[in-house]
Amino acid sequence: MDIVRIAIDGPSGAGKSTIAKRVSAALGIDYIDTGAMYRAIGYKMIQQGIALDNEHSVKEMLACTEIDFSAGDIILDGAVINDAIRTPEISRMASQCSALAPVRKKLVELQRAMGQKKSVIMDGRDIGTNVMPDAEYKFFVTASPEERARRRFLELTEMGQAVTYEDVLEDIIRRDKNDTTRELNPLAKAEDALELDTTEMGIEEVTNKIIQEVKETWQQ
Ligand code: C5P
Repeated sequence: MDIVRIAIDGPSGAGKSTIAKRVSAALGIDYIDTGAMYRAIGYKMIQQGIALDNEHSVKEMLACTEIDFSAGDIILDGAVINDAIRTPEISRMASQCSALAPVRKKLVELQRAMGQKKSVIMDGRDIGTNVMPDAEYKFFVTASPEERARRRFLELTEMGQAVTYEDVLEDIIRRDKNDTTRELNPLAKAEDALELDTTEMGIEEVTNKIIQEVKETWQQ
């Protein structure tokens, strides 16, 4: 059976992870959430009080950091950190630390290794352009900032977090700016990626379109 690699890129809150999880289940392939990996590093930096501009400490920390996925859990240095990394504070730190060269170097290497031997669906910002430029399928999933903020707000309040819609929208706009303007591997649509907007189409429809596209053309 040929392996298949699917890249899903797009801005925060467009629905990438929901879509990727469903596609992974429908096709029986692994899901790799690269945003969770940047969140894990942001989390560790906060835990250890490492400043963004302290390159020496960042490198030292990276040298003794292990990140893995197992049965849908993200594991940092042996501990499951699924919920701990889903806070606005970690979102901001993840966005900031993802601009650091040593952080990107380490995570991109890990991601490439994860996507080498088996079929995967990987979501992020630079998967189709940088991590797996030779992926068999590439999708760029977008939605309006207001729709993305609405979804994120519901998600966070359901998790019991005290946030306002305005703060979430502001955060989304700030992260979009960080992600698209950073020097290293900025958020961008790969030339050969198919763009899908979940504002109008809805997440369900986009998911089905991707599953259908892969099933119809993937040589199993
Ligand atoms: O997708 P998620 O919101 O969990 O990603 C957290 C942060 O990690 C993003 O704001 C982005 O800055 C960064 N990221 C990245 N490259 C990726 C995935 C995420 O820079 N491939």
